[in-house]
Amino acid sequence: MKTSDKHAALAAATLTDPRWAAVQARDARADGTFFYSVRTTGVYCRPSCGARPARPENVAFYDSTAAAERAGFRPCKRCKPDQPSLQEQHAAMITEACRLIENAETPPTLEQLTKPSGLSPFHFHRVFKAVTGLTPKQYAAAHRARRVRRELDRGGSVTEAIFDAGYNASSRFYEVSNQMLGMTPSSYRAGGVDHDIRFAIGECSLGAILVAQSERGVCAILFGDDPDALARDLQDRFPKANLIGGDHAFEQLVARVVGFVEAPALGLDLPLDVRGTAFQQRVWQALREIPAGVTVSYSDIAQRIGSPKAVRAVAGACAANMLAVAIPCHRVVRNDGGLSGYRWGVERKRALLAREAKA
Ligand SMILES: [Zn+2]
Repeated sequence: MKTSDKHAALAAATLTDPRWAAVQARDARADGTFFYSVRTTGVYCRPSCGARPARPENVAFYDSTAAAERAGFRPCKRCKPDQPSLQEQHAAMITEACRLIENAETPPTLEQLTKPSGLSPFHFHRVFKAVTGLTPKQYAAAHRARRVRRELDRGGSVTEAIFDAGYNASSRFYEVSNQMLGMTPSSYRAGGVDHDIRFAIGECSLGAILVAQSERGVCAILFGDDPDALARDLQDRFPKANLIGGDHAFEQLVARVVGFVEAPALGLDLPLDVRGTAFQQRVWQALREIPAGVTVSYSDIAQRIGSPKAVRAVAGACAANMLAVAIPCHRVVRNDGGLSGYRWGVERKRALLAREAKA
């Protein structure tokens, strides 16, 4: 083949690869999902690298840093693809801050939260808001609200729930409960009559994705092929809710959820509005403790929640999950490692697991 033909063939291979568009857009959301090398410089980069754009005939793609290094390339000094990205560092830092808030009896001050990160309180506050969509103060309030809901779901009385969550005067709880639960405690128990749920439908690598949020947190992440069917599914699941199409601010939240679906290892630190029976909640909590890249069996989960015989009920709880990926029911497989079912289609399960195995 003549050199010019060879160049043309190499360029065509790059130009037709969907990853090339992410490189050209320097799309930080693609970071961690692949790496690319540049033959002329001998380095490999993450998609968002700010270096001068490479010519397509000199570019090759890799699923991991190890693959790029095996091919003889060294990490770019500018985007440091062999080290955690800024996005990953921020996610780790904010996850740590969220755990601090969740474990504290009284909400930590901004100074206490900021200290481990070494950032200025102003910068930290901005990163926290960008990652979670909430200020640290709002996150603490949402977490406290979650504790109240957990108590209510367990069937405790409203007063017990209030005391267990650390509120010392019922009157104060009722003052803020509308904001916190999105409704008053008694109507929450009754199944959420007439509350608002915002939603939007977007596209991700797994097809159409619907993200819905109540005032309490993200309450549904659904996959499908048909956007209309997704909207009907949401209505069926929340028959009493008032569904509202998302505004611009909500679209940004959907973009964050899509980013998380594309790179689950980053974690999603938005408050979740998890609705289910006490048993389902135990199963879902156990699922959330399975790290990305790991699979377990239905009987493992049954063991972990202390009901070793409830394997079928565990499978049922997985099938009832409304928060795809955030509650990672795709990480549960058969005892023999077979994929078994997935409520959003076994092909999507396979794709999610393949992606996590690489990361
Ligand atoms: Zn680079």
